[in-house]
Amino acid sequence: MVLGKDVLIYDLDDTLYNKTEEFADVLDQTMAEALVYDLGLKMSLEDTKKLVTESYKIYRDGGEIFYKNYGIEPKDLFIAYHRRKPIDLIKPYDNLIDKIKRVPAEQYIFTASDRYASEKILKHLGLYEFFKDRYFSVEDFGVYKKNEDAKVYKDFCRRIGVRPQDVVFVDDSYSNLEFAKEAGMTTVRIYYKNNSAKDKTYIDYAYKGIESFLDEVLAAAAA
Ligand SMILES: [Mg+2]
Repeated sequence: MVLGKDVLIYDLDDTLYNKTEEFADVLDQTMAEALVYDLGLKMSLEDTKKLVTESYKIYRDGGEIFYKNYGIEPKDLFIAYHRRKPIDLIKPYDNLIDKIKRVPAEQYIFTASDRYASEKILKHLGLYEFFKDRYFSVEDFGVYKKNEDAKVYKDFCRRIGVRPQDVVFVDDSYSNLEFAKEAGMTTVRIYYKNNSAKDKTYIDYAYKGIESFLDEVLAAAAA
């Protein structure tokens, strides 16, 4: 068990690899390129990128301004963006899989990346073999986000045959944890620089990086 629960579900992006500001900036550029080159947005690349960054700050979603004001369909951007995602720039942790294999719980991944990108990311991180039948994308549930509704977390539990109260959900994005909590899960936030969401009552535990969380889980299991 982990934190008294049988099941552990991880977010993928910026949770199972380290979030860096350089990579976030590259991803804003990637989204701007998808909007201009693939979806035909009539705006300069530079201005588009600025709006992506602004949209992320306001809505925690780089596409939201374009859905609201520029007639972009969330599904189209979801697909185009993930095709362009520069996965080779992600720097995997060393030996993360060795730690994950020793965690005393059933483990799954629930990602807001699409299946195409998440398979590539899992292979790049050395986690694909372990999770190949245990990772799900939002698109498997007919949605493009996991920070809008508790329903998708309940649907996920139904899919894997567990109850939300038996699950620990681990995510760097606290806007996701709000709905995991509402569904009835125990929540763990992964942060990097500092624990900026201390005040959020729907976060049960917070750890600096996934490795510190796993180290504590393994130490508790060995005790
Ligand atoms: Mg994330």
